[in-house]
Amino acid sequence: MQKEETFSYQDEQFADLQMLRYRVDGFENLTTAQKTLVYYLSEAALSGRDILWDQNGRYNLRIRKTLETIYTDYPGERECDDFKAFTVYLKRVWFSNGIHHHYGCEKFKPGFSEAFFRQALKRVPAEKLPLDAGQSADELCDALVPVLFDPAVMPKRVNQAEGEDLVRTSACHYYGEEVTQAEAEAFYDNQKKEGDAQRPVMYGMNSLLTKNSQGRLEEKTWKAEGMYGQAIRRVMFWLGKAADVAENPKQAAVIRKLIEFYRTGDLKTFDEYTILWVQETDALVDFTNGFTETYGDPLGLKASWEGYANFKDMEATARTEKLSANAQWFEDHSPVDERFKKSECKGVSAKVIKAAILGGDLYPASAIGINLPNSNWVRAEYGSKSVTIGNLTDAYNKAARGNGFQKEFVVDEETQRLLDKYQDACDDLHTDLHECLGHGSGKLLPGVDPDALKAYGATIEEARADLFGLYYLADSKLTELGLTPDAEAYKAQYYGYMMNGLLTQMVRIEPGKDIEEAHMRNRALIARWAFEQGRPENVAELVSRNGKTYVRINDYGKLRGLFGQLLREIQRIKSEGDYEAARNLVERYAVKLDPVLHREILERYRALHLSPYKGFINPVYTPVRDSQGHITDVAVSYGEAYDAQMLRYSRDYATLPYQNE
Ligand code: ZN
Repeated sequence: MQKEETFSYQDEQFADLQMLRYRVDGFENLTTAQKTLVYYLSEAALSGRDILWDQNGRYNLRIRKTLETIYTDYPGERECDDFKAFTVYLKRVWFSNGIHHHYGCEKFKPGFSEAFFRQALKRVPAEKLPLDAGQSADELCDALVPVLFDPAVMPKRVNQAEGEDLVRTSACHYYGEEVTQAEAEAFYDNQKKEGDAQRPVMYGMNSLLTKNSQGRLEEKTWKAEGMYGQAIRRVMFWLGKAADVAENPKQAAVIRKLIEFYRTGDLKTFDEYTILWVQETDALVDFTNGFTETYGDPLGLKASWEGYANFKDMEATARTEKLSANAQWFEDHSPVDERFKKSECKGVSAKVIKAAILGGDLYPASAIGINLPNSNWVRAEYGSKSVTIGNLTDAYNKAARGNGFQKEFVVDEETQRLLDKYQDACDDLHTDLHECLGHGSGKLLPGVDPDALKAYGATIEEARADLFGLYYLADSKLTELGLTPDAEAYKAQYYGYMMNGLLTQMVRIEPGKDIEEAHMRNRALIARWAFEQGRPENVAELVSRNGKTYVRINDYGKLRGLFGQLLREIQRIKSEGDYEAARNLVERYAVKLDPVLHREILERYRALHLSPYKGFINPVYTPVRDSQGHITDVAVSYGEAYDAQMLRYSRDYATLPYQNE
């Protein structure tokens, strides 16, 4: 008989964060070969961790090692306020893979004193500190103190403030300290001009742009024998093992092509890899591993490292397959101008998966839907793979049940009943629509630069995908396909979306700050635009009761019409590369907050004692081996504590030197 492990979705809570756990039910039913494949891919996903830490800021690896040494070896009083605040700070740094907030990008303000830090650093064993040759603990301290404590030093990881030099004022480590925004933009504009206009590679994606000793710009490429080589070679080792146990020859070829890319750093090889990856849809186990999303670069070129392994959830996948099978119908019937529609929707493959491990930029905070690759021409010619991560959504929903949030913010009981009845189903469906149809829909006019919208591109793209989902959630086609239970269901999603975009997402922003993150900007843009456009007909209104503000939706049908109208305009902006229009929409609707309303929402939220951000503790995979060392099974367990997991990762997956350039 097996011992039952007690499982709780909710784990510890600190600062604005809540740790959750997710289950990988169904793993036990995989074959030994599939389990082994997941295990190797999960090792590959964890092995690149240090890359992301360094990408997020040039001091992060040194800081992590220093803080962890104090955490494990400090001989002084641990019950004092300074040490407690220090612990919270370290847990936040772990969560963010660096010293800036994972979402808001602002630098954390330590709750402990500089004096505490200085004396603590002197009292831990010097051989455990990340000292340079000949460096003393005092000198390390002098180097780190301004980075940790001075609010003027590296204040933001990604700065999006219009009019500033976004490269010089962002702390992310994608550009050398001397490089300006104008220089970086000119450098890559030049590469684009000289490259293949039809099938451009992802320029700048896998390198640091810096200046050499003569002051000339040069790229330091992230590859096996280049920058981050030590980490990349470790990732390649585990990918090599994974290729040997791949489910089919196509999948083995995908993995080997990725290894080739890591070896050469050649972006053409990267495109070849993504094409193979998109086309491999038979295997149950799948993965992402590499330089992937560009949200961490103010110019949207450099890709942060991430990795995860997953396997298909067969039952839920039946749902997304219905959507993909009808992709052309949705494209043809959308309210978008005919000139911007795809005449042939290719290979939108969609599936619901269970994440088996989260790594790099997906850990511990993770997306719940992912659509890749990001190359526009690869998507147009070969399609994309779209996933909804079912077991993470499930963990969120289970953890959120009955926490008092909706009771505080939902306008009335009738609306609450609507949400109770339909919201879980609609949320999943909206994610499916967003990922497997929304991002894949539409096309650019010939000759339009895919990066024409520059810093506004990500917000516009997310808005496009969200609006596609919102518009179709209310369509009778979905009820016809058996995806929504009835013609009322979409209202739950509409209400939740408007409430979030107009009011409750503000809980993630500190007083006085703007909205910066692309998904949040997109939600504010959609909700506020629809609210304002619908005002003459009172489509939605803000009502005030006992000093509390609520959203009421008076006409769901008209709201759908507004979403359709905005989708049409957003697609036009994207297809034509209309930078001015993108800028106007985003700056007008998606950036600033009403300070009075913001304060009210924050106060109501604070009274609930909830955390606005959540992240996941990974399960632990342990191979079971026979006497010859062959893997005969892989055991999964869930009990590891948050700090134990982070310390283990820092020990077992430490690959890079403390300074990388
Ligand atoms: Zn998206």
